[in-house]
Amino acid sequence: MSQEASNKQTKVFQAETKQLLDLMIHSIYTNREIFLRELISNASDAIDKIRFESLTNSDLLENNGDFEIFILPDETTNTLTISDNGMGMTYTEVIENIGTIAKSGTKAFLDKIQTAGAVADAELIGQFGVGFYSAFMVAEKVTILTRAPGQTMGIRWESNGDGTYTIEECSKDSRGTTIILTLKEEYRSAEHPEENFLNNYNLQNLIKKYSDYIRYPIKMNFIKKEKPLDADGKVIEDATPTETLEVRTINSMAPLWTKNKNDITQDEYYQLYKNLFHDWENPLEVIHSKVEGTVEYISLLYIPSHAPFDFYQRESTTGIRLYSKNVFIMDNCQDLLPDYLRFVRGLVDSPDFSLNISRELLQQSQQLKLIGKNLEKSLLKNLETMLSKDRPKYEKFWQEYGKAVKTGIYSDYQSRDKLKNLLLFSSSHAAEELTTLQDYTNRMPESQKVIYYAAGKDRLSVERLPQMELLRDKNIEVLYLFDRVDEFAIDALHEYEGKKFQSISRGNLDLEDIDSPETKKDTEAMAKENETLIKAIKEYLTGKVTDVKISNRLKSSAVCLVSDDSGISLSMEQILSEMNKTMYKASRILEINPDHEIFGVLKTLHQTDPESESFKDYCDLLYGQALLMEGITPDDPISFANKLASLMARSSR
Ligand code: ADP
Repeated sequence: MSQEASNKQTKVFQAETKQLLDLMIHSIYTNREIFLRELISNASDAIDKIRFESLTNSDLLENNGDFEIFILPDETTNTLTISDNGMGMTYTEVIENIGTIAKSGTKAFLDKIQTAGAVADAELIGQFGVGFYSAFMVAEKVTILTRAPGQTMGIRWESNGDGTYTIEECSKDSRGTTIILTLKEEYRSAEHPEENFLNNYNLQNLIKKYSDYIRYPIKMNFIKKEKPLDADGKVIEDATPTETLEVRTINSMAPLWTKNKNDITQDEYYQLYKNLFHDWENPLEVIHSKVEGTVEYISLLYIPSHAPFDFYQRESTTGIRLYSKNVFIMDNCQDLLPDYLRFVRGLVDSPDFSLNISRELLQQSQQLKLIGKNLEKSLLKNLETMLSKDRPKYEKFWQEYGKAVKTGIYSDYQSRDKLKNLLLFSSSHAAEELTTLQDYTNRMPESQKVIYYAAGKDRLSVERLPQMELLRDKNIEVLYLFDRVDEFAIDALHEYEGKKFQSISRGNLDLEDIDSPETKKDTEAMAKENETLIKAIKEYLTGKVTDVKISNRLKSSAVCLVSDDSGISLSMEQILSEMNKTMYKASRILEINPDHEIFGVLKTLHQTDPESESFKDYCDLLYGQALLMEGITPDDPISFANKLASLMARSSR
């Protein structure tokens, strides 16, 4: 031991260290409880070190190989002590490790902090390996007692964070490091019970929260009060309880996710899920993977059996828990997975994450982006397999989260291709079954060029649409879109494997091409023949419809309302107007069935007097009917009802 080491010396912190300390003490970093996690994590690292070295030199252990970390609050001295039997430090190591910041780039970081100002402090703290200094956030004085293996004397280091520290030799029986924090008043008072770091209950919770999976036991003392037993072994109720000291290990020490998949039972996976995510039910799916390569991580993801009851109403609040080498970093990290997968719960443990990283910095982290991409890929692959191998399970998934997947299609351009094969729809093919787009196209006759769909609130209302009749007659399968997001998703997809989507209520149906090319000519000829009549109806309904056409999609209904291929559809218009977005209007095209009796009546009325009230009333009534069939109330329901009543009266005369 050198002369220098034996005498108490006061030293000045290296300039950067002092700056860092000031930052810690005055920082706006509010999450001060993390100091415990930092110190425990250092202790665990120090134990890792000696365990590793003792593999080749067992003398180092000095018969003290039961590794442990001890947390000891003491209300009489206002101190919180964290001790370990890890590697410990020599005099020079203490000066090097604690008095200076040896890491390169630190100076640059500090410069950045100064230019970025106080607001950035909290974010930038995360960039340092400043674990130990976080003790100064809660302590007015920090004392370190440490002894490296093989040394006869230990080292005592002490500072109150004011720019200097003292260092001297001291006696220390056991190997390892003891850190004594003399807590600031606000962190040991009953005034802020949740920030009282002398409180056993709080400490226990913090250990569970942040350090549960530390590989060494984290122990604390507990006072056990017990009433004595009588000769028969029964409790003597009126006796004064005796107090005994009991040492308990607080952390579970076993990070399930680091174990080999084959060594984990399904129940263990489920228990961890319930513990971490406070669910009562088992999850629908567990996906556990270990990845080594450019990024290194272990992920354990769960799909809960049920979406939270308010899942579709609120901004997403769930997310993934992050760990770095078993040490908890943060909850609900939402930047990892795209929004449409926000129902996924779970954790990612990666040595590449920095312990103190803030949410803001995480968003920019390349590692996180890479991991996120991988997770998305493996989740989608898992879902694809579930769809092909376990359809009932997938349908359960779909019922809970299908809507989220569909929003992924229209809100995330890049996901479209990845998600299209996961979609399920009701269809006219079979009432009880859902179909994939792949199955639909497999069933399509070769002559069918497009994928037909119809939107409505349920099966009954879609099947009653006048446009459906002919398709049904021709045995053409139609996808049914019941969900309000469906049509937006289909619109965003635009096509599936070269086949465009075609609403049965939009644009030209081209049904003729499928079975009877002659009918096409028929409608064109009809339109020509009745040009003046069509023009007259269109003129009368100016402002209400954009066009009037002879229909090729109707069978028994007289009229229907469709919209053109571009722009939004009538059902989308209704959804948007419910969302108070009334500026979006679908084009309304009135189609008339030339084979319907009423068409002949219209023709006669028009020929007799194109200006007659009767002709105009018929036009109004037909338009009103078409609206009603789409579930839209006519603009003036009273006038519609009156016209209908007088028509009924006339016809009975
Ligand atoms: P980091 O842990 O990120 O390296 P810290 O500021 O937390 O940064 O610690 C600085 C150094 O001090 C550590 O790298 C380690 O060498 C030493 N150290 C801290 N705590 C202990 C401990 N309990 N036992 C042994 N060495 C320690």
